Amino acid sequence: MNSHARLDERPIPFIDVAAQRRRLGRAVDEAVGRVLAHCQFINGPEVRALETELAAFCGARHVIVCSSGTDALRLVLMAWGIGPGDAVICPAFTFCATAEVVALAGATPIFADVLPDSCNLDPASCARAVATAKRAGLKPRAIIPVDLFGLPADHDAIAAIAAAHDLKVLDDAAQSFGATFRGRMLGTLATATATSFFPAKPLSCYGDGGAIFTDDDALAARIKSLRVHGESPNDKYDAQHIGITGRLDTIQAAVLLEKLKIFPEEIAARGVIAQRYAAGLAGVATVPRVGNESTSVWAQYTIRLPAGRRDGLAAALKRDGIPTAVYYAKPLNRQAAYQGFPVAEGGLPVSERLSGEVISLPMHPYLEPAVQDHVIAAVCRALGG
Ligand SMILES: *Cc1c(COP(=O)(O)O)cnc(C)c1O
Repeated sequence: MNSHARLDERPIPFIDVAAQRRRLGRAVDEAVGRVLAHCQFINGPEVRALETELAAFCGARHVIVCSSGTDALRLVLMAWGIGPGDAVICPAFTFCATAEVVALAGATPIFADVLPDSCNLDPASCARAVATAKRAGLKPRAIIPVDLFGLPADHDAIAAIAAAHDLKVLDDAAQSFGATFRGRMLGTLATATATSFFPAKPLSCYGDGGAIFTDDDALAARIKSLRVHGESPNDKYDAQHIGITGRLDTIQAAVLLEKLKIFPEEIAARGVIAQRYAAGLAGVATVPRVGNESTSVWAQYTIRLPAGRRDGLAAALKRDGIPTAVYYAKPLNRQAAYQGFPVAEGGLPVSERLSGEVISLPMHPYLEPAVQDHVIAAVCRALGG
């Protein structure tokens, strides 16, 4: 239909990596060129420089960059010696990597429910999950809250539960590095924080990458060793621990150093786009709400619809050339690999409900107002607003 046609008929990307490349100009190419010239592909100077810049950015005492967000989570659990007989509480409504690392360590993930407004860990369900773990004869060791879609979880409430039960907190900030909670940046809110630089994350590289943030000196030293096969500080052929190959490539560090320079502007741009979505869509769908205590980096713009309306909206938007995604259509307790693990007392009613209601719209810092208006109009049309 003509009235719905846009002037510019390029396909609308869900996340526009190419637009960011145009914004960066030659900077990334030149940074990669410098690595190609010095040939220090492993542990080159850009790796240390990136760790220094990330620490300055978020205020964490130690930053250890690594091979992926999943390995960042995994290295922390390894450093804490979490294994068989231990339980780790995590939300059911998240990407599987949050629980995968627990199972890989030989420990037991216990699934807790989330809150409907934030989609983040429900502290009350988290506390019940601690009791569930004990009743199952497991030793609760840690909580992994997730800051889903770019929005921080309630880190004060989670820290209080952790303190009451002597648990560690590993924040899964894979989607939300750059966000703040009560004036503090993620990376400083938990015993340790993990993030991901996968290309679809708000701060991303051109491949796989991740980072760990902590103020704990001994933990940082142990993770640095585990990242390189458990090597000794002074002799890499004298293994102190069983470790992994968990380094970040120098080329990816060089890419990230350039992208970090524009990251604050990109976060601001995401905020403007989120506001525009909220203004345009609040009448037809449940739009995400950010409380006064937090800022979001809007990794996703995820709206909620009454159950049963999502597939129709996705199909209608597809006809209008607009991509959508569903994060997540199945909570972890419904996925084949994870359905055998315990669930917090009281069950996971909110996770179950959200998995039928959520749908994410195109979101990235370079979403142009005309394109966004096209998306908003199409959603309103499809939902009869
Ligand atoms: C992306 C993601 C991860 C894993 O990060 P990778 O870099 O892909 O390994 C972990 N947890 C959450 C919540 C994520 O979104």
